[in-house]
Amino acid sequence: MLEGLTGAEHTCGIPGTLGGLVCMNGGSQRKGIGESIVEVTSVAVDGQLHHRDRDSCQFGYRTSVFQRSDDVIVGVRLSFELVSDKGAVRHEMLGILRNRRSKFPLRDANCGSVFLSDPSMYELHGPPGAVIDRLGLKGKQIGGLSRLLWGCDIFKINGLPAAFR
Ligand SMILES: Cc1cc2nc3c(=O)[nH]c(=O)nc-3n(C[C@H](O)[C@H](O)[C@H](O)COP(=O)(O)OP(=O)(O)OC[C@H]3O[C@@H](n4cnc5c(N)ncnc54)[C@H](O)[C@@H]3O)c2cc1C
Repeated sequence: MLEGLTGAEHTCGIPGTLGGLVCMNGGSQRKGIGESIVEVTSVAVDGQLHHRDRDSCQFGYRTSVFQRSDDVIVGVRLSFELVSDKGAVRHEMLGILRNRRSKFPLRDANCGSVFLSDPSMYELHGPPGAVIDRLGLKGKQIGGLSRLLWGCDIFKINGLPAAFR
């Protein structure tokens, strides 16, 4: 990205590893890392190496074939577009990070977004956070362990020992 490669800005600020990101087809702004995948190399339990192209990874919204296999992802080839305006890529990433900081409770232990967020449901009902808000569940606390923040779909974890954070 520092070199002006564009295409993965939507992943900035997402905690985790590249293997986890690919397995989850993670991303934001209704995009997934799968869109940028050329090939994924994984090791099966019998030690065999597998090379899968994008189609064979069966990427769907926050899913991939790796969620249905025991393979461990050990290599990823990605394809990005090169743009002349490196500053624009950086600007976009900083904007996304700023936006995430304002939305995510990064100082508190939390387990991220846990509700199924299907883009096809957006048109009908809006994002999960808005639905939760409309249902009056914003700020709901159950058992003192978790609660929904600000009408977005993030559970904050309260009262867990520090070792779990
Ligand atoms: C505060 C917060 C914000 C988040 N925001 C987003 C977001 O905006 N968008 C989003 O998509 N996700 C988000 N997440 C969820 C999570 O960060 C992503 O799904 C991330 O990509 C998971 O990566 P990980 O390395 O932590 O994987 P883990 O959570 O450890 O594992 C996830 C899955 O991937 C598998 N896995 C991990 N590594 C490998 C590997 N090398 N080979 C094969 N399988 C593997 C695991 O077995 C598991 O099934 C958020 C989480 C938190 C806590």
